[in-house]
Amino acid sequence: MNGSDSPSDADLRVVLGRIALPGGGTLGASGRITGLSAAGGRVSLSIQIAPDEAQTFATVRDEAETALRALPGVTSVFAVLTSERPVPPKLTPDHPAKPDPLAGIGHVIAVASGKGGVGKSTTTVNLALALRAQGLSVGILDADIYGPSLPTLLGLHGKPGMGAGRKLKPMQAYGLKAMSMGLLVDAETAMVWRGPMVMSAITQMMADVDWGALDVLLVDMPPGTGDAQLALAQGTRLAGAVIVSTPQDLSLIDARRGIAMFRKVDVPILGIIENMSHFICPDCGGKHTIFGQGGAEAEAARLSVPFLGGVPLTMDLRAASDAGQPVTARDPDGPLGRIYQQIARTIMAGLTTLPRAQRPGQP
Ligand code: ADP
Repeated sequence: MNGSDSPSDADLRVVLGRIALPGGGTLGASGRITGLSAAGGRVSLSIQIAPDEAQTFATVRDEAETALRALPGVTSVFAVLTSERPVPPKLTPDHPAKPDPLAGIGHVIAVASGKGGVGKSTTTVNLALALRAQGLSVGILDADIYGPSLPTLLGLHGKPGMGAGRKLKPMQAYGLKAMSMGLLVDAETAMVWRGPMVMSAITQMMADVDWGALDVLLVDMPPGTGDAQLALAQGTRLAGAVIVSTPQDLSLIDARRGIAMFRKVDVPILGIIENMSHFICPDCGGKHTIFGQGGAEAEAARLSVPFLGGVPLTMDLRAASDAGQPVTARDPDGPLGRIYQQIARTIMAGLTTLPRAQRPGQP
């Protein structure tokens, strides 16, 4: 047994050995199962497929999920289809019979950074709250599978429930809808996933969450500019991307790569946010430009993308994030809340001024 209640690997494989494949044989004996794990009653697995098998194997995946869920001790099952060549999800007209799972969402906006630790997740959460404070209905999808921090930032506990049509119900916090890989998969499991698996898990998570009607869905992207990020950017109906960077050179080089990546797949860059722009000393109240100043603004000008604003490095912001009570939720009209609200307004204004062809929903 892996945990007190979890079934063993052998138990899981017995069940998978009963799932018949369309071409003959069983799923268990097919050699297609990778990353099978059960911890605390939560089972996750990947099913390797060729890119053109996605539709056929969706039924197999559903059968496997149902059968595994029936095992004693299993509380949830998360099965993903993965192929070595990432396949963009079929959200566009070549599969008209399949409704767009994000159809009720006005704008899907990616928040991205070239590398981790620059404050991408902190920025995503506070921006979402700033948009909420302006009366919009907002959701956050934490797709940062390697370091999902949304549960901590929003103080989320427990597991998402299952609603109609076997869709996951997003969790609620501070008036936001939220879903995170951190709520579904153990951190250790996700850490060993390869690019295509990450991509497949994320697109599946998008399709299987009942977001309902939202004005804006912010996607906290996995850091970096590799295949998974590219495929995700390509496969999602993105209205645009916001890049988070710190002012210093190293981070800016990564931001530049991020911008190049989104441009490659024709996703409009809504702008760059300079996080940790300067340090406000809690003792003397003084402003210190630890990482230099204005780097991101100069870079934005150089790359002809909008500069959305700078957010200072403050003890308050960090402490509030760690406590699961984001500053913009606590005090939307305080000094930091106002900065995020200004950035949020600029982003929304940028969306409405995009050339018509680049607007979401416009063919
Ligand atoms: P990323 O998503 O880019 O990996 P996080 O948002 O998780 O980064 O931030 C990394 C750390 O930096 C966290 O501890 C967070 O609280 C802190 N942090 C982010 N932005 C700020 C800021 N402007 N001021 C103070 N701390 C910050």
